[in-house]
Amino acid sequence: MVAVVMIAENVRAVRRRVEGAAGVVGRDPVEVRVLLAVKAQTGPAVLEALGAGADLLGHNRAQELTAMAPALAAPGVPPHEMHFIGRLQGNKVGQVLPWVTCVQSVDSVRLAERMDRAVARRGQAPCAPPVLDVLVQVNVSGEPTKAGVGPAEAADLAAAVGSLRHLRLCGFMTVGANAPDAGAVRASYERLAQVRADVLRGGEAGTAGATELSMGMSGDLELAVAAGATIVRVGTAVFGPRPAGPQGTR
Ligand SMILES: *Cc1c(COP(=O)(O)O)cnc(C)c1O
Repeated sequence: MVAVVMIAENVRAVRRRVEGAAGVVGRDPVEVRVLLAVKAQTGPAVLEALGAGADLLGHNRAQELTAMAPALAAPGVPPHEMHFIGRLQGNKVGQVLPWVTCVQSVDSVRLAERMDRAVARRGQAPCAPPVLDVLVQVNVSGEPTKAGVGPAEAADLAAAVGSLRHLRLCGFMTVGANAPDAGAVRASYERLAQVRADVLRGGEAGTAGATELSMGMSGDLELAVAAGATIVRVGTAVFGPRPAGPQGTR
């Protein structure tokens, strides 16, 4: 784990990497948000990152999210948004939704319908947002350990999500190929961009807003920005290596 004093510098260094990568391909860097993947991190480390300008956090695990979220909602903590980026079990939906503005890891109609019903119920309370932003997670590399629908199924899932009244389909998320070859990694990100293009061209109801591409991590964010990422998700580049074990997995 990186000393807390390094974290602020690392947040700024990641932003500079995004700006450099966008510049290379002639993109405006403001199109690319940096999400900090905070799995296995401590509250003080996350607060340090927020103090350095981070404004978007991603949690993988319902339990870690609900343990940390109240401290991050306290007065004086810099404003930020929280997304869910991990595998979401149906029975954890109720715990997760109150804390997040987007679930990036929708990989089945069943999960989407369950979230839709949960948002519909909370919508009866005053001030609860009536819709939840979601991304469809696509397994572009076909690696069996990775979550997400296959690229060939992504359009059908996007259309199903688009038809649900309490979810707003905002785009697509992937964990890229785990390959040493930059060409293969970039091709996997281009595959997600192609999924988005196909869905937008297909014109199904509720899919016109599916413009986001959440892809790219600490080791390869430049490749993802070149392929059109609008959200890159970084953990180790800011917080240092995670301890081994289940929390260190993707
Ligand atoms: C941990 C994680 C990341 C960040 O990975 P790093 O290699 O630490 O940058 C991104 N996306 C998801 C879904 C993750 O679980």
